[in-house]
Amino acid sequence: MDPLFLSISAECREVRHRLHARPELSGAEFATRDAVVAELRSLGFAPQTFEAHTGVVALWPPGSGAGPASCLALRADMDALPLQEESADAWKSQVAGVMHACGHDGHTAVLLGVARWLARSGRTWPRPVKLIFQPAEETGLGAPGLIETGALENPRVEAVFALHGWPELPAGALSIPDRAVMAAVDNFTLTLRGRGGHGAMPQLARDPVVAAAALILNAQTLVSRKSSPLEAAVLTFGQVSAGRTHNVIPETALLRGTLRTLNPALRAELMRDFESMVNHVAGAHGITAEMEWVEACPATLNDPAMAALARAGVRRTLGEGCLRDAPPSMGGEDFSYFLQKVPGAYFWLGLGMERGGLHNPRFDFNDEALAAGVAAFAGIVEEYFERSPA
Ligand SMILES: [Zn+2]
Ligand SMILES: [Zn+2]
Repeated sequence: MDPLFLSISAECREVRHRLHARPELSGAEFATRDAVVAELRSLGFAPQTFEAHTGVVALWPPGSGAGPASCLALRADMDALPLQEESADAWKSQVAGVMHACGHDGHTAVLLGVARWLARSGRTWPRPVKLIFQPAEETGLGAPGLIETGALENPRVEAVFALHGWPELPAGALSIPDRAVMAAVDNFTLTLRGRGGHGAMPQLARDPVVAAAALILNAQTLVSRKSSPLEAAVLTFGQVSAGRTHNVIPETALLRGTLRTLNPALRAELMRDFESMVNHVAGAHGITAEMEWVEACPATLNDPAMAALARAGVRRTLGEGCLRDAPPSMGGEDFSYFLQKVPGAYFWLGLGMERGGLHNPRFDFNDEALAAGVAAFAGIVEEYFERSPA
């Protein structure tokens, strides 16, 4: 690896530790935004901030917005999670009940490292590079908010790339799948409405609890029998609530859960089949059902050509041996909204398992991976403009 990336990563480490100590929840990344803006200004950038959200957008070279009609974009997310950190590190969270348990402090530090690389290497390309620092990834609201305020315009984004630290890969290794990286997340709330009554006189009631039990078991066949065993899908009931005492049949039962899929066609099919099953099971039990879906995010689907370009790019700076083949995750990621608008690729940067899994109170981003993150983006920038110079 070019020693430039190693010297930049030493500075990234210091930035990351500062961000890690002051984590902020989704949509409230005010101090984080100010820190990002200050870093960018000190490097000669002219960062743009927004009324509507705490995102930051910066072009390299600065002030190039009025010139070229389009650009290449790189994105990092900045928000933390409502978790109490368990750490003995000097840079541990100073905010009770909030911590960087998903490594977004690392993603922000890496993209600030890319800003350093752009500013220091003195290189320019035919079109600008746009750095996008995104709030509120964990709630799925950050990417749509940025898109709404024009982050993919002025100049128009031709292609977009982002990474996520991944504990299951060795530190510094990368995985850049051709297509699906993360799942579509569809959350549902289901109210089964029966008729309450005495626990000893079920014939006078319509029991939503037994209907809920039947539905939960029946729903297991949606993934096991209705969808192809070669297609990934998960249906999880995360909340089941009904009743308050031992001898009363309640009026209602509430079920909440999540459906995860990688294939958009299967997603539509499973949602339809699940609704039909809900109505039929409710009908068989003489009760009614109300169902509400909330889309958290669509599947994160790479553009195969952009994924191939990204793999070639990271080989330039990190060598042949840096790539691994990791399977997709059934977690969700709101970078998917960018990929619905613009071709690009999302990839994983290995962190090693030493600091635990994501969303864990003992998790910490592995500083050893910072240099590889910066070098990966740098390689992608070089490869991108070599392939599309005009
Ligand atoms: Zn997360
Ligand atoms: Zn994350």
